[in-house]
Amino acid sequence: MTEKTLMLIKPDGVQRAKVGEIIQRIENKGYQIINMKMVTPTRALLDLHYAEHVDKPYYPALVDYMTSGPVVVMIGEGTNIVAGWRTLMGETNPTKAAPGTIRGDLGREWPQEAMMNVVHGSDSIVSAQREISLWFN
Ligand code: AMP
Repeated sequence: MTEKTLMLIKPDGVQRAKVGEIIQRIENKGYQIINMKMVTPTRALLDLHYAEHVDKPYYPALVDYMTSGPVVVMIGEGTNIVAGWRTLMGETNPTKAAPGTIRGDLGREWPQEAMMNVVHGSDSIVSAQREISLWFN
């Protein structure tokens, strides 16, 4: 089934100049990027995007991380892309993410409280629709 998902290259990915490599991995996989822009997210947008994290102890650090610079925001399209993009990203903690995945190859843990993990992907079709409308209203 053809799906859309929201893909972010987070501030650490942009600052460490991994944009080209990440886009190449998306394109090598065969997914289409059907919309793309660069923005520095606002706190208001992040409160909506991360609605299920706002009460977590690491949330203030997560906001500091995500507002520390521009992110690349993309809509990806392809068959089963929601699950496929999460497989390409690897698991949340970059120390545990398998080699071969974006987080496993390009990420590591740093001293900051918020886990800096290079990329984001929607976790379901419903989340993807919600996140795409938030970031591309
Ligand atoms: P997720 O929507 O699951 O990707 O989680 C949002 C983001 O919050 C993650 O990508 C991490 O950057 C951060 N995060 C999630 N869980 C933790 C945690 N236990 N400690 C610190 N940061 C976290």
